[in-house]
Amino acid sequence: MTVLPGKTIGIIGGGQLGRMMCLAAKAMGYRVAVLDPSPGCPCGQAADIEITAGYGDMDALKRLAEASDVVTYEFESIDGAALERLGKIANLPQGSAALLTAQHRLREKSAIRAMGIPVPDFMPIRGARELEEKAFYPSVLKTATGGYDGKGQAVLRSAGDLAAAGKIAESGECILEELVRFDREISVIVARGAGGESAVFPVAENAHAGGILRMTIAPARIPRELEARAVECALKIAEGLGSVGVIAVEMFAVGGGVLVNEIAPRPHNSGHFSIDACAASQFEQHVRAVCGLPLGDPAQLAPAVMANILGEHLGGGLEPYLPLLARGKLHLYGKAEAKMGRKMGHLTMLGDVGESLRALGAAGIWGSEELPR
Ligand code: AMP
Repeated sequence: MTVLPGKTIGIIGGGQLGRMMCLAAKAMGYRVAVLDPSPGCPCGQAADIEITAGYGDMDALKRLAEASDVVTYEFESIDGAALERLGKIANLPQGSAALLTAQHRLREKSAIRAMGIPVPDFMPIRGARELEEKAFYPSVLKTATGGYDGKGQAVLRSAGDLAAAGKIAESGECILEELVRFDREISVIVARGAGGESAVFPVAENAHAGGILRMTIAPARIPRELEARAVECALKIAEGLGSVGVIAVEMFAVGGGVLVNEIAPRPHNSGHFSIDACAASQFEQHVRAVCGLPLGDPAQLAPAVMANILGEHLGGGLEPYLPLLARGKLHLYGKAEAKMGRKMGHLTMLGDVGESLRALGAAGIWGSEELPR
């Protein structure tokens, strides 16, 4: 079903991803309605209609559906059952299957492995006792649901780490994974239309600290064969899940191959570079895909380094970053309170990657000692 500009797109979730989706949609002439629990949320500031309610509030979801010609979501932590019910009354091209898979790390890794795509070794864990019996080292324990940006995770290097990890194990169903000694972290963002057509962005290289994405370099500095392998895996996953819209696949590059870590059936932080560096951004592609328009051109027009601006980067205000604007593009998300680790915005530097890295390091947005080589 084609939803033409002029019609209304409903977005569940009003954070920065919703905001950037909204801005891309508005640029194309769509109207936007958003549902989010916080009034004046980042997306609400730019949307035409703001519905303030919880994500699982079926009445509010119905109101969103009534106000919209197509409904999409910007994040995974939506009540899966509510979304399934919504799919019956609203035009929800993404469906709920990819989301239900991505919401649960055990389901996610099992589904990807069943597609013949390698993932890190993993096993389910229930409770501290089972963790003690089954722990291996080095490994990482994660809650099966609900964790993001490294929350609900613990690295186990020896039995000495069991006590701290045990608390996470007691909090609910968990997954214990081998701790991968990766060469690089990379991600592939695929836009896929309802007819199965797809467009892939250049592979991105990501650097995390404390479980939070700090920086993306695109295109990734990896050999062509590895790039081809990463794209092949991402396309297979998008197709296997019957994904519609944008889906991000995060991977570890190890030797000549990849291990898939995580999927996100939505635009992704590691694809923000595409706003300024690509012919069509991930947000525009997502809007096109869910509205049934032809996909745009994902070609990258300039090398890019995207750095997240976190709460702790704004202690001295924005002044330290103004010199970066000569080659950089600033995006702020309209969040009032700058908390530690909170994503407040991002900067995308275009042009020579080495120079961009040096400039970001000099401005203190990225410690040069942590730079990926
Ligand atoms: P996740 O929430 O699974 O995306 O994890 C956040 C970050 O933690 C990843 O981007 C990696 O930097 C690190 N990480 C997660 N799982 C593993 C693993 N199995 N081995 C090594 N590093 C990991």
